[in-house]
Amino acid sequence: MKLNYSKRMDGIKASEIRELLKLTQQPEIISFAGGLPAPELFPVEEIKEMSMKVLEDMGTKALQYGPTEGYDPLREKIAKRMKKYGVETDMKNILITSGSQQGLDFTGKIFLDKGDVVLCESPSYLGALNAFKAYEPKFIEIPTDDDGMNMEVLEKVLKTTDNVKVLYLIPDFQNPSGRTWSVERRKKVIELANKYNLPIVEDNPYGELRFEGNMPPSIKSFDTEGRVIFLGTFSKTLCPGFRLGWTCADYEVLNKYILIKQGSDLQASTFSQMILDRFLTEYDLDEHIEKIKSVYSKRRDLMIKTMREEFPEDIEFTVPEGGLFTWVTLPESINARDLATKCIEKKVAFVPGGSFYPNGGNENTLRINYSNMDEERIVIGVKRLAESIKEMI
Ligand code: PMP
Repeated sequence: MKLNYSKRMDGIKASEIRELLKLTQQPEIISFAGGLPAPELFPVEEIKEMSMKVLEDMGTKALQYGPTEGYDPLREKIAKRMKKYGVETDMKNILITSGSQQGLDFTGKIFLDKGDVVLCESPSYLGALNAFKAYEPKFIEIPTDDDGMNMEVLEKVLKTTDNVKVLYLIPDFQNPSGRTWSVERRKKVIELANKYNLPIVEDNPYGELRFEGNMPPSIKSFDTEGRVIFLGTFSKTLCPGFRLGWTCADYEVLNKYILIKQGSDLQASTFSQMILDRFLTEYDLDEHIEKIKSVYSKRRDLMIKTMREEFPEDIEFTVPEGGLFTWVTLPESINARDLATKCIEKKVAFVPGGSFYPNGGNENTLRINYSNMDEERIVIGVKRLAESIKEMI
């Protein structure tokens, strides 16, 4: 049997990360491949207690349909948390989504027609690129450095390109590069978005996982015209299994997201939202985040130290001040996909960086996650990775 699929399916392929993650389920694999939080930090007992309380106190409500916008007490708490990002807002500007990933898909649905242009960082988050691909856009990649996107190149592209519809940015501990934008570039990008009347999608799953220094104000905090759509999530600060994230935007824009959510899945799970809300009432999420940061920062330190000791000298890597990833650049002669195959034989996995460039190239890069493996496995894994690199040089 051969069914006739829509044209848009032609551009949609299995994600390389998904395929790799399947492999990394094998317990003997040391995996730096996924973006998984450390499971030993999930507050299982607390969530169990909160689930019981929700069922006991408001069982029928928790199992019933709820409003598309989300559970109001949770929306209120999120609106307050937006202060951390320098944003004063209230609950009417918050939509609860099924992870921030859903906000990315909705962005495509709301802004993109076939052939429209998405401007993104080079490299950018594969999951967003895949979500946008369903709407058949063209991607123009803007080069990035340690301070974020190159604003001169961005301006040149904006001047000379028609049909740019979305500027997609991950300014804090970017996936995959681990880099964070400077405040100056955050201000500049708003200036350009205002000039060219563009929406900015500010995707920020990692900003609260800062190990040192102060959190910079979000791009949204500089937005005076209501053009920034901020995507947040509890996936990395609590647990991804709830599938709870949020979109924060001016009401006129948010209303489009609400309409699309209605047609997509009506609402996020009432039960998950109520458990999360109860957790935020009875426990201090910021205290929990402190625990996560202390574990991840040790893992980052150890990973960077081992990479410095074991990697050949001409190999560059980022030293992120937070988040989950470091980004490695190999000599151009080494293809990271070949290196990945070699490493899988040694039971080590990572994601070849080429997949984060929508228009291809840059096959000598790789993304390494340090949140999900314990310290012993980090050292063994980096040593095996270094051995494989040396063999390929
Ligand atoms: N954006 C970025 C940059 C991410 O790294 C991720 C998760 N890896 C997401 C969005 C989606 O996260 P979630 O749907 O779990 O909130």
